[in-house]
Amino acid sequence: MKRVYTFGNGKAEGRADMKNLLGGKGANLAEMNLIGVPVPPGFTITTEVCTTYTQQGREAVVKEIQGDVEKAIAHIESLTGTKFGDAANPLLVSVRSGARVSMPGMMDTVLNLGMNDEAVEAISKKSGNPRFAWDSYRRFVQMYGDVVLGMKPKTKEDIDPFEEVMDKVKEAKGIKSDTELQVEDLKELVKLFKAAVKENTGKDFPTSPWEQLWGAICAVFDSWMNERAILYRRMNQIPEEWGTAVNVQAMVFGNMGNTSATGVAFTRDAATGEDIFNGEYLINAQGEDVVAGVRTPQQITLEGSRRWAALQGISEEERASKYPSLEESMPECAKDLIETQQKLEDYFKDMQDLEFTIQDGKLWLLQTRNGKRTGAAMVKIAMDMLRAGIIDEKTALKRMEAQKLDELLHPVFDKDAVKRVKVVAKGLPASPGAATGQIVFFADDAEAWAEKRKKVIMVRIETSPEDLRGMNVAQGILTARGGMTSHAAVVARGMGKCCVSGAGEIKVDYKARTVEMGGKLYKEGDWISLNGSTGEVYDGQVPTVDADMSGDFAAIMNLADKYTKVDVRTNADTPRDAAVARKFGAKGIGLCRTEHMFFEGDRIKAMREMILSKDEEGRRHALDKLLPMQRGDFEGIFEAMDGLGVTIRLLDPPLHEFVPHQLATQKELAEEMGMTIEEVKLACDSLAEFNPMLGHRGCRLGCTYPEITEMQARAIIEAALNVKARGIDVHPEIMVPLVGVVEELRMQADVINRVAAQVFEERGDTVAYKVGTMIEVPRAAVTADQIAEVADFFSFGTNDLTQMTFGYSRDDAGKFLKIYKEKGILKTDPFEVLDQKGVGQLVRMGVEKGRSTKPSLKVGICGEHGGEPSSVKFCAKLGMNYVSCSPYRVPIARVAAAQAAIEE
Ligand code: PEP
Ligand code: MG
Repeated sequence: MKRVYTFGNGKAEGRADMKNLLGGKGANLAEMNLIGVPVPPGFTITTEVCTTYTQQGREAVVKEIQGDVEKAIAHIESLTGTKFGDAANPLLVSVRSGARVSMPGMMDTVLNLGMNDEAVEAISKKSGNPRFAWDSYRRFVQMYGDVVLGMKPKTKEDIDPFEEVMDKVKEAKGIKSDTELQVEDLKELVKLFKAAVKENTGKDFPTSPWEQLWGAICAVFDSWMNERAILYRRMNQIPEEWGTAVNVQAMVFGNMGNTSATGVAFTRDAATGEDIFNGEYLINAQGEDVVAGVRTPQQITLEGSRRWAALQGISEEERASKYPSLEESMPECAKDLIETQQKLEDYFKDMQDLEFTIQDGKLWLLQTRNGKRTGAAMVKIAMDMLRAGIIDEKTALKRMEAQKLDELLHPVFDKDAVKRVKVVAKGLPASPGAATGQIVFFADDAEAWAEKRKKVIMVRIETSPEDLRGMNVAQGILTARGGMTSHAAVVARGMGKCCVSGAGEIKVDYKARTVEMGGKLYKEGDWISLNGSTGEVYDGQVPTVDADMSGDFAAIMNLADKYTKVDVRTNADTPRDAAVARKFGAKGIGLCRTEHMFFEGDRIKAMREMILSKDEEGRRHALDKLLPMQRGDFEGIFEAMDGLGVTIRLLDPPLHEFVPHQLATQKELAEEMGMTIEEVKLACDSLAEFNPMLGHRGCRLGCTYPEITEMQARAIIEAALNVKARGIDVHPEIMVPLVGVVEELRMQADVINRVAAQVFEERGDTVAYKVGTMIEVPRAAVTADQIAEVADFFSFGTNDLTQMTFGYSRDDAGKFLKIYKEKGILKTDPFEVLDQKGVGQLVRMGVEKGRSTKPSLKVGICGEHGGEPSSVKFCAKLGMNYVSCSPYRVPIARVAAAQAAIEE
């Protein structure tokens, strides 16, 4: 088993398609070598070694790969003409993590490894640049101390001991920027940093390069299991077993002076998808400086630089002198970079996210990967590449992260409303969208407020991976520092969250929990709005309007329809929801829950009267009042769905949900019904159940009170005839809930058919209708062959089916599911993502058994899973005719269904 793969000088043992073994970064470093892109030589330790490390620990790993690592270091030595640990000509390396998929800011990096008191002198002499040598040394001690020796602050109250030392030194010297530190200052810093290490860890800073190397390799493996990484994996459903690779590479230095630089770039605009090469760089800086937001990064292209300056309100003179583009400051290198980015995009046929370093006028690539992008950019880039003939239709569809389409469906700010609001600050349009919320400053507050259903905007000086939890629940993120590639910007784009970054003029005071913007002091809880597409920050709340769904979005949807084999319907209870869903491309209603209609206005009174009636006569009296209301509702829905199927489900919830529980409302009801309060109370109490979800609900109501089914069937058929008379093409499908025994369905179908025949007779007209059932009780799935004898269609109610298969109460599972996920007992919440191995097997059985009786049986799903991409694909592969989901998930399901067809 090969565990270490080398690369360098146009050769590589790995390849781009070996991401599972080499991680994304390692695989692409190898491939870049093979296609002639300049990459510093190095090697990759495989992800399998990470698994060994997690299971067996450091000693086992060192024993397993020591020989390979030594050989690989010798390989770098021979290509660079340096020697690891040599006093005269030392090799310095970087050590970086690299999982299969990128996890921005989650894992740790160590640069300049191999540095010690001798090496610094040698490098100082060799480069003729002592400042560079000592700057590299102090960075190394800091990074190694933070990452490998565990000195990185753990909470927001902790101070980084190195930053503390740094601040003291700068203050003593009266300087602001790191670049103003002189050689003597840097020497002093190294000394103070090492003392800080000794004080914090009780040990001397390791001087042996080999000891440093093993420390760093193991730290990368450790970082796979750190809290941030675990959280990121959980949010993105990345399995722990994947592990991370370790990349060790010869250092190239962006901090060697004014002919050196480092930067990051995107081959297209990651926010809008426009085909514009863009990126940021810093002269005389190293790696993390650009993303960390320590200094204001400059733009690579002249055009980008001018646009940036205009956004910041910086004059052309100031821009050109203080923040020149790379095209101006290093024209040759800029030309090389522009050629290289095109080569990489052409080769990988997707938008690339690059990291580069310029060492003394020579360009080196340190990374390339498919760039994270917003939903809008995802759609535009795929369609642009399709039209340019770079990719084919199937590839364009496969590139869709279905969930991300959600970003395109949501409202944007009302253009007119925006004109009237006050712009209080301006930053970079880091991640588009519109966000309105109350200001919070810390991640834990964001979480706590969001839990109380408050909309929050996180305001930070800059963000770090620790803020991820907060960003996840916030409506948007505003930062004072950081460019378009800062942590906040990259992560927000990945999440599809609105973000304005680098709003330099805002003054954040964490202690006072205030932010000063546009001459006003905002406190925690004050409302602001962010426009992630322009970088503007507005005072107060701003109204929004619906998103535009034409253009590339429509094109992708049409492509999806071309390949899909599954219809997407919607779960809608009102004509309004039905209309929204239709706009999103829904091909009918898969679930109309009739009970929601009973809660509105006066209806609940009639409903309560029905429930509390002592006998059938009383119930019929109340049902007569409900009939016209239901009929009106159904007419509205049939009209909105003209020409499409509409599945209406009969009453489902336990009756207890409809009766009043408070004394005041019970009194009111007693008066209305001419009952005593005691009678009402008694009647309400008698409806209480120990396990209402397993109690008197679903078709059990219709079987015990057939008059309810009669009223609903009549309302549906009469409504259908009424709209038919108005020229509407109506296709009613009546669905019986919670069937577990075929006799339940047979009894309900008899009632429905009898009522329908009666109505047809009364009206002298007919309409075609279907009678089907939900499959949501395990017994229904197991006896689906019998149930199919009666049913025209099945619709899997995977909410209840999950509840009953796991035995987890839908209403109470939240409490322990969170812990189950944390402990790894469950990877995902089964109420969100269909449990394919368990519940999914019942679904499979239900489909197969049902169709064994009735091969033409129409089958769909209407549980929440009908809009979750992995579950949609599962249903599509089982050969379902349709999936049904809430209106805003319709486009997501359409794309997921098409992807399932392509993957077949
Ligand atoms: C289901 O159980 O999956 C379903 C769609 O019905 P409800 O959520 O209304 O119980
Ligand atoms: Mg149900």
